[in-house]
Amino acid sequence: MRQPLSREFSNLLERGRDRQLRLAVTGLSQAGKTAFLTSLVNQLRHAGVEAQLDLLPVAREGRLLGAQRLNQPDLGVPRFPYDPGMASLRDTPPRWPEPTRGISELRLQLRYRPAQQGWFTPDIAHLTLDLFDYPGEWLLDLPLLQHDFYSWSQSQAQHEGPHRRALFSEWLAEAEQLDPTAEADEAQLATLAEAYALGLRRAKQAGFSDLQPGRFLLPGELDGAPVLQFFPLLGLSAPKETLDALPDTSLYATLAARFRYYQQQVVRPFYRDHFRRFDRQIVLVDVLGALNAGPERFEDLSSALRQLMHSFDYGKRSLLTRLFAPKIDRLAIAATKADHVTPDQHTHVVQLLEALLAEPLKDLRFADIPVKALSLAAIRATEAREVLHDGKRTPALKGTTLEGEDVLVYPGDVPSRLPKADFWQQQGFDFPSFRPMPADSEALPHIRMDAALDWLIGDKLT
Ligand code: GDP
Repeated sequence: MRQPLSREFSNLLERGRDRQLRLAVTGLSQAGKTAFLTSLVNQLRHAGVEAQLDLLPVAREGRLLGAQRLNQPDLGVPRFPYDPGMASLRDTPPRWPEPTRGISELRLQLRYRPAQQGWFTPDIAHLTLDLFDYPGEWLLDLPLLQHDFYSWSQSQAQHEGPHRRALFSEWLAEAEQLDPTAEADEAQLATLAEAYALGLRRAKQAGFSDLQPGRFLLPGELDGAPVLQFFPLLGLSAPKETLDALPDTSLYATLAARFRYYQQQVVRPFYRDHFRRFDRQIVLVDVLGALNAGPERFEDLSSALRQLMHSFDYGKRSLLTRLFAPKIDRLAIAATKADHVTPDQHTHVVQLLEALLAEPLKDLRFADIPVKALSLAAIRATEAREVLHDGKRTPALKGTTLEGEDVLVYPGDVPSRLPKADFWQQQGFDFPSFRPMPADSEALPHIRMDAALDWLIGDKLT
């Protein structure tokens, strides 16, 4: 007869296995992914010595013995540039790490002492942590998978709105003259695709977020490759069957083939080979940057996030679940660069983040995916101070701007709800970008990286 395994014995089995956790970091560009991952690796490497990780029990209790880099298993994925990032931060004057542009990976092996020592528990346990960093822009391509070239072209009718027409003017001027049945001209396609990509980049700057294909904005290693040389055909009047019957060398068939290739060889492989295998995910959001940049950018961030979060919508009928059966079992959403505001504002930053993501958060909770919203600074670049203002003690921040000027500022109050028109008119929000602080320890200064780590990996280190 089978005996139920004792708790201790199952702990042993659990710890004896080569345990592995795949943790992914994403966010739109400038959200702070590179800084976050650089700091995360740095904190774990210096845990137990210089790193301040009081909110991570395994570190607070002195049980986290360290983290070692191992060779990563996926040879086709670039290695996350940790050493160059640290070298920039240690430069005089310190510089922010160069941002990553595509997917990258780094494998760490954590050594720790299990909390409960017993007959079967090993003295030392290991956890292999695979860290991934990828652009949030790639997630904006998920909706593209439900289309073929014909329906995708038709879904891009928004280009006909007046604002977009102006932004895409060069592309539209030629694209509208195209005859889908004509022979494709390679050179013309390349020029037009470049004009289309230029339109997308301009639209992004102007505050639009419904921008497909996502790789046109952040091509990574695909820059200049023919797979990125396509665009929608607007105003198709012939029925789909007639167009589908055109010869392979026709303009329509050429664009349709590239669209399919993009779907099959670019979008799908990312979800199938990477996304589907992530266990944990943190989505970074530069809420404060958007607040600083004004209402248009803020609104844009909000709609881009709504789209991006569809990749975490695990409802039974969601496109993602049907196509890839992802397994992310825990999610964190973090407002980055919290050192841009005084500590008394941090609660508001989280409330604002929750307001911004209210719909996706509701869906996630409904789908029973544990999710936590928090605010953090991966690499703290300011120090909180108090100043006397009109005889009252007021919080302030001390830092050095990117230009090298030492400043003491009060950047403003963060609204705890989505800002309305009067917020932008009356109060606004203003802070400079800060330079990282010179090193005074091996470990990087941070705000709540330990809370993020606890949520993302703490349960695996008990
Ligand atoms: P990515 O494009 O998502 O990889 O973003 P980065 O990590 O390159 O961050 C973009 C910029 O945001 C950096 O160059 C810094 O100027 C700023 N930044 C990122 N993290 C922090 C932080 O924790 N504190 C401060 N003050 N600035 C940050």
